[in-house]
Amino acid sequence: MSQPQYRTPKGTHDVLPEDHQYMTYIKKAVRHRCRQAGYKRIDTPLFEQKDIFERGIGEHTDIVEKELFLVSSKQKADDEPEFALRPEFTAGICRSYIEHGMQQLPQPVELYAIGQCFRHDRPQKGRYRQFHQFNLEVIGLKDPSIDAQLIHVLTKVFSDLKILDRLTMQINNIGTAENRIAFVEALKDFFIGKEHSLPELDRERLQENPLRVLDSKEEDTQILLKSAPTLEQFLDEESKLYHATLLEYLDALGVVYETNPSLVRGLDYYTQTVFEFWDSETKGQNAVGGGGRYDGLIELLGGKSTPGIGFAGGMERTIWHMKQAGVQAPNKDQVDVFVAQLGSEAKKTCLKLISDLREKGVHTLGALGEASLKSQMRLADKFEVRYALLLGKMEVKNSTIILRDMAAGKQKEIPLAKAIPTVIDLLGGAESLDTYTLKDQFVEIDED
Ligand code: AMP
Repeated sequence: MSQPQYRTPKGTHDVLPEDHQYMTYIKKAVRHRCRQAGYKRIDTPLFEQKDIFERGIGEHTDIVEKELFLVSSKQKADDEPEFALRPEFTAGICRSYIEHGMQQLPQPVELYAIGQCFRHDRPQKGRYRQFHQFNLEVIGLKDPSIDAQLIHVLTKVFSDLKILDRLTMQINNIGTAENRIAFVEALKDFFIGKEHSLPELDRERLQENPLRVLDSKEEDTQILLKSAPTLEQFLDEESKLYHATLLEYLDALGVVYETNPSLVRGLDYYTQTVFEFWDSETKGQNAVGGGGRYDGLIELLGGKSTPGIGFAGGMERTIWHMKQAGVQAPNKDQVDVFVAQLGSEAKKTCLKLISDLREKGVHTLGALGEASLKSQMRLADKFEVRYALLLGKMEVKNSTIILRDMAAGKQKEIPLAKAIPTVIDLLGGAESLDTYTLKDQFVEIDED
């Protein structure tokens, strides 16, 4: 086979039908748990003013410094701002909270979003340039019980997806912005005169974003860090109490966690509570999701000082875990019935029959070409349908149809008028039909 001329760009992938079943399953679990807890869905644009990410996430974070995809246009006017594809949701959602005056709504405002994010990362397993996140935010009120409830909802989602037991929730409190400033100063002081022992990457980090040194995978750095000041030593009493209370609430809710004093998360906007769901085996590598409090972010983006906490889960990594755990996402695309026909009268009758079967909620395909019955049956086999309905010239004349059980390889002639109820019965009755009704109170539409 010749190589295709065009391929997906590096670090991106098509979400093929097999994986869409997982995507849909995850979205359903997220939507279900969010709805139970009063969250409402929000969608923000795929791109925003670059400034929002620079200010919000931090200019010297990897995400902004190295990984932003800039959006440009040949028509861009000189006074138009620069735009970037969103590398995460929180900054855009906070922009939306301010722009739409959501502080006027009853607080906290609970929002969730599901969609693509973009980071110009070096692609590798579990790390892509376009990926999907599900994202939860609680904005406008601060209390350890809010943090605990958010985390609890997430454990419910992971438990519904049957991967909670593969994950370990790591939690820490990184203190207020002031605590962090004091700690960073102490950390810089500690490394004075020791810079030469640091690998180059960490020397740079120390200059630009010293907290990231704590995340370093370099052995030399980790050895030095053993005698460095710790963030914990700089936490104020309020942060310590906040954290202790949060842990009590998590215990009360039965949430299992590991406290991790070196968990800092990469973004500038975090304050106090930070947490991540780690793969229990590979630890900090390829976390499935993470989040934390961002009490200064809304003010930083030009709003009134407003606390908030959020979480982002990676859908691709979640799917990977589901597959590892042997979780089979329900395949709702299975075709139940294949209708085959021969002759122009039969074709007309079958068009109507196919439409009526679909209307009743039976997944139905039909070969409406001119192929022989035999080759239509081969097609039915390939689609792995359970039943086939065959209508030839004789059957049209007799107002009958042939019903074939594909697995058993047996067939019988039945009255055409009985075809639909018979098929529905064989498929397991009304319960197994794919129908949805729009109710007044509750509209469940299978959108993406
Ligand atoms: P972060 O806020 O960077 O911790 O991202 C939250 C979650 O999004 C991570 O735990 C991953 O599951 C997912 N994620 C982040 N970056 C990527 C990426 N480049 N490719 C795939 N998933 C990602």
